[in-house]
Amino acid sequence: MPILEVNNINTYYGGIQALKGISIDVTQGEIVTLIGSNGAGKSTTLKSISGLAKVKSGSIKFKKQDITNKPPHETTLLGVAHVPEGRRIFSNLTVKENLLMGAFSVKKKNIIEERMEMAFNYFPILKERLDQKGGTMSGGEQQMLAIGRALMMKPELLMLDEPSMGLAPIIVEKIFEIINQLNQDGMTILLVEQNAYQALSIANRGYVIQNGEIVLSGKGYDLIENEEIREAYLA
Ligand code: ATP
Repeated sequence: MPILEVNNINTYYGGIQALKGISIDVTQGEIVTLIGSNGAGKSTTLKSISGLAKVKSGSIKFKKQDITNKPPHETTLLGVAHVPEGRRIFSNLTVKENLLMGAFSVKKKNIIEERMEMAFNYFPILKERLDQKGGTMSGGEQQMLAIGRALMMKPELLMLDEPSMGLAPIIVEKIFEIINQLNQDGMTILLVEQNAYQALSIANRGYVIQNGEIVLSGKGYDLIENEEIREAYLA
């Protein structure tokens, strides 16, 4: 049963139509990836789901509940976490403060501590750097902090926008390993990536977006084998 159902959404920036009837679904326990070139509409799809971009028509359901155009803090509270492109951690806050911001609605101290331990479990480096300012960490560490912060709400759907962007290959490997681990531990993941090969390698299914439309979809391993995909995105 799909946990997320995006049905025929159209999203505009002023007069520019960024999404033209996008429909995707994500089943509980899956990793689903959206691939496509720059400006195709991948980020806008995630923003439309989390409420950062306004959908003009179509609908979005999360766990059967209509979340179309719900504001980001509400979708977060319902269990949708969005780690945006470029990480967007709070540079002037420490690692600990960043993590606490992630748990903004949680009042109980023991639950906050439990969640922090869970984040440290995936990213031990965060525990070592608790008092370091976010902005002074490396790109890879900032990405880890951004994902760790999202985990503080114990989301049911984790949406990651280009987690590998600008990172050295060895760090990219590490990030993908952790995404895989999170999924094996039960997390449902919607992953936007330009690194199509790596994304499709860990994904159950993928959608290819071009100019705001889905042009192809299928199982991760089938898309890797697909000749058109190979030429356009895996060359
Ligand atoms: P990228 O990897 O470059 O972010 P993308 O596939 O995520 O690519 P989007 O960022 O979703 O693409 O952009 C889709 C379209 O919407 C593009 O034509 C882009 O120029 C346009 N767009 C995105 N954000 C804005 C904005 N804030 N204002 C106006 N147009 C925008």
